[in-house]
Amino acid sequence: MTEEPLALYVHWPFCVSKCPYCDFNSHVRLDIDQAAWRDALLTDLAHEAQLLRGRRLGSIFFGGGTPSLMDPATVTALIDAARAHWPRTDDLEITLEANPNSVEAARFADLASAGVNRLSLGLQSFDDDALRFLGRAHSSAEGLEALGIAQRHFPRVSFDLIYALPGDTEVTWKASLERALSLGTTHLSLYQLTIEPGTRFATMVSRGDFEPLDGDRAAGLYEATDALTAAAGTPAYEISNYAAPGHESRHNLTYWRYGDYAGVGPGAHGRRLGMRTVRHRKPENFLSAIQRNGHGIIEDAPLSATEAADEVLVMGLRLAQGIDAGAAARRFGFQSIVDWTRVDRLVASGHLTRKDERIAPTSAGRLLLDSILAEISASEPISAGRQVSAAA
Ligand code: SF4
Repeated sequence: MTEEPLALYVHWPFCVSKCPYCDFNSHVRLDIDQAAWRDALLTDLAHEAQLLRGRRLGSIFFGGGTPSLMDPATVTALIDAARAHWPRTDDLEITLEANPNSVEAARFADLASAGVNRLSLGLQSFDDDALRFLGRAHSSAEGLEALGIAQRHFPRVSFDLIYALPGDTEVTWKASLERALSLGTTHLSLYQLTIEPGTRFATMVSRGDFEPLDGDRAAGLYEATDALTAAAGTPAYEISNYAAPGHESRHNLTYWRYGDYAGVGPGAHGRRLGMRTVRHRKPENFLSAIQRNGHGIIEDAPLSATEAADEVLVMGLRLAQGIDAGAAARRFGFQSIVDWTRVDRLVASGHLTRKDERIAPTSAGRLLLDSILAEISASEPISAGRQVSAAA
């Protein structure tokens, strides 16, 4: 049995409305046949399970879309099926993403009974004007009420905030963050607003309806975020994620540490035994594929050693603890996966730290991660012509 626990991601692709900044695989549909979706997701799960026998399950994550709109009976059925397919670790983490409105909060007791033991709540802001700007359906008061209900039902509750909105200043953001840190959570996801192509916000920015916060001010807010969260004992452990030690999302750590994860449901990605898996994004196409093939896969391809080495670096350097670049090189059969001269230059400039072969981004480095990756990434083969499988 492979020792590394397996992570399972289940994607629920529906939302009540589309937020103007959102580029996730989320769709608005008037009618959702819950029974058909339960059966489809169970079928897709069974397909992954038969290809991943002999693994222990370490985490399940229901993401979306808005998975708190799933019938709790569907969540129960999927958790039960996953437990039947795989033996589990003693501390199986089961997270579900929820929006903080009264309809969804009313389901929290049922979701906890289904086995969900960690809730990730999309609060996004404590300010009603900001919530309206973000197109959210809940008010600040509803958000706080839902948080209280969640904290009564789940042993672990994380919530999200979005910052660096137009008009945000260090004073206003620090006040929000201090409030967030006083609400008794041990995990926060704090995202800067980014304008993604194809979203309603992208159209609005191109029309001149508003201007995104400029990069320097956004960087200042990021640094203030790092300092305040660290002082409160919930430091950054990833670019946008902050936790008290031991309260990190074990599921997401699997991605960033480049462990195997099965991804089921529309648009879900997976990494299984050296393969990349991608599911049909559009809900209707996914259901047809399930009926036709018994799974929702649109792409199932082996990763080359170079692709896998690039991914391990991209994911690992998101983490504050960084990556053992030497171990990663050996895992994929390379002499090295980074240019060490350039790494040392970035250590000298204060963007990376290095201890033996472990490299990690500093707070300043996390802000410039894309350019750092472009600079240091360099997979160097052990010897020309050697072919190594990406499977590890
Ligand atoms: S609720 Fe989440 S997934 Fe749904 S549209 Fe809004 S941001 Fe996207």
